[in-house]
Amino acid sequence: MPNTKKPPTALTKKLPVLTYTAKDFSWVKWTPKDILALPKKALEKAKQDHRVIKNTPKEKRTFENTILALEEAGGPYDEQLSCAHILGNTSINKSVRDAVHKASEEYSKEIVDIAYDEELYGAVKEYIEGNAKKEKLADDQKRLLKDTWKGYLRMGFALSHNKRELIKKNLKERSKLGIAFDKNLNEYKDHIWVSPRETEGLPELYCKGLTRDTKGRYKVTLEYPDSGPFLTNAKNDAKRKELADKLSLKGGKKGLEILTKLMKLRAEHARILGYDNHATYVLEERMAKTPDTVYAFLNDLKSKAQPLWKKEFALLQEFKRDVVGNKKTPYLYYDSYYSNELRKKLFNVDGQKIREYFPFEQVKKGLFEVYQTLLGVMFRKMNIPLWHPDVESYEVLDKGVVISYFFMDLFPREGKYGHACADCFFTGRVVKKEGKEYYKAPATLIIANFAKPQKDTPSLLTHGEVETLFHEFGHVMHSVLTKARFASQSGYNASWDYVEMPSQILENWVWDKKILKMISKHFKTGEVLPDQLIESMQKAKKFLTGYSVLRQLTFSYLDMDMHTHKVKGRLNTHASELTKKIIPQIPGPAKSLHPAGFGHLAHGYDAGYYGYLWSEVYAEDMFTEFEKKGLLNKEIGKKYREWILEAGSSMDEIDLVKGFLGRKPNNKAFLRSIGVGK
Ligand SMILES: [Zn+2]
Repeated sequence: MPNTKKPPTALTKKLPVLTYTAKDFSWVKWTPKDILALPKKALEKAKQDHRVIKNTPKEKRTFENTILALEEAGGPYDEQLSCAHILGNTSINKSVRDAVHKASEEYSKEIVDIAYDEELYGAVKEYIEGNAKKEKLADDQKRLLKDTWKGYLRMGFALSHNKRELIKKNLKERSKLGIAFDKNLNEYKDHIWVSPRETEGLPELYCKGLTRDTKGRYKVTLEYPDSGPFLTNAKNDAKRKELADKLSLKGGKKGLEILTKLMKLRAEHARILGYDNHATYVLEERMAKTPDTVYAFLNDLKSKAQPLWKKEFALLQEFKRDVVGNKKTPYLYYDSYYSNELRKKLFNVDGQKIREYFPFEQVKKGLFEVYQTLLGVMFRKMNIPLWHPDVESYEVLDKGVVISYFFMDLFPREGKYGHACADCFFTGRVVKKEGKEYYKAPATLIIANFAKPQKDTPSLLTHGEVETLFHEFGHVMHSVLTKARFASQSGYNASWDYVEMPSQILENWVWDKKILKMISKHFKTGEVLPDQLIESMQKAKKFLTGYSVLRQLTFSYLDMDMHTHKVKGRLNTHASELTKKIIPQIPGPAKSLHPAGFGHLAHGYDAGYYGYLWSEVYAEDMFTEFEKKGLLNKEIGKKYREWILEAGSSMDEIDLVKGFLGRKPNNKAFLRSIGVGK
């Protein structure tokens, strides 16, 4: 039983921090040539490190020279590959981005062969059967040892050589397909043209930000900052339909083909290893543990959300019929315009008006103030040249000492990753330098695509974007405040149905009156968000929650069905049928290729999408502790920092949650947040 009275990382906090100079960030200037040289160097170093581990005599094996050495193999080059990955998502130079894709493909292809080493497996086994019995290991070491061993079994080392070769081939193929899926999606471009006459309902500011052709028509692309506001604000039904239809084809047939192949390969992999299906294989390492638990969780939520949605839909339907003056008009999949109008009518909240209170600089200032206060740290701007002038860099200071770094790349550019995410490139962990132990400062990048400042207006964030920023900042804090000893337990390297919790919990801050006043300032009048507007926003928060939970459930079911052999025909047909079953009131577009644009399914969220809802249950429960003590309360902030942010996954995730709460978690707060129960 892990000790749930004490947070697990106290020891590493006493270590001096290994910080960086400008030279450590010189990778931002790498050329394609530098990048293409990386895989070879990284692979060589990994092989060399492995040789040392293999050559260690049985009687000299220790946790450090075998288990930890294995985790650290590849050393600095592994880190350089993470840096290259950042450039692959953000560089303004296409040849740099292409070089990164090529390099990472090359690396992942080869590293499988290198990792599949019988002798390495033998070394771990030798340690477990020998000296591990004598060495006194701490809890986090035991956890790493267990995970390493489990990792080898999951790679097929308990199977015949032939089967293992099949698994190896399978993994290589999948890694190639994953990269191909991302590339296809990143490069998939489409748009609609909208005449000035067809812009009715669209905010002036929004139109100003769009590209125009020589005939004066506006170009609306599939990128979220274009398509999101268009679908909720454009009055023109036909144009909304045109855009929604194009969005549903995002990723195209090619994306669908790749995803189908991936699904088959995953099933095959699980079969060889003796699992019923891919989900069973994946989930044994998650908080949920089994597909049955996940389905039970989804079914329970569905039964709570569907009655809510029925009422919501009746309102939507009636509203649209009133507006268009036709008692028979159905509410359709491209009608979020009407739901937005209804929202405005019911709550008097106009997203575009609210946006005027959220100029980016003010939101950032407020965000920093909130987390500096709550978590007892300071953010200090740095002056280092990065890959684009828009990108900002900060040091994180704890009691005046630099402990970590984060970068912010928040405005869209051609070729840049199109969504919001946090990406850690230096992993916080204990390292040895000249025989002395240090804590290596973590560094993380946050990517988003907010509207760029215009000539006479600053970048204005919708409230949803403010929420996104807080969400991603939650991932950043998880990763830059980590004090976990080992890389694989550091920061957000945690179970996938837990990892969204530290980001989801922060979303709650942007619904609090006091906090909203800290982060808002009307870009013309300088006023903070008025009370009345805040109250309306808070009421409107529960508008259509039934629908949004059901939408998340549709994705979760699709993902689970894909990975438990439930998809019999085409993937897109299965997806459409699921939507029909779960949200029967609004059938989607007839020709949707939907999963083709669903990036989560290709990179890491396979049999894991449910995790968003799952971890939200924990996030809402844990947030009640802040509600009790105050959203800027240092004492609860400290507890949160120690139990959650610093701990990473150096202890079982459920024990961390219990440690913070001081009790077992429950789903009451989550249900309350969507409008079920009190
Ligand atoms: Zn997230």
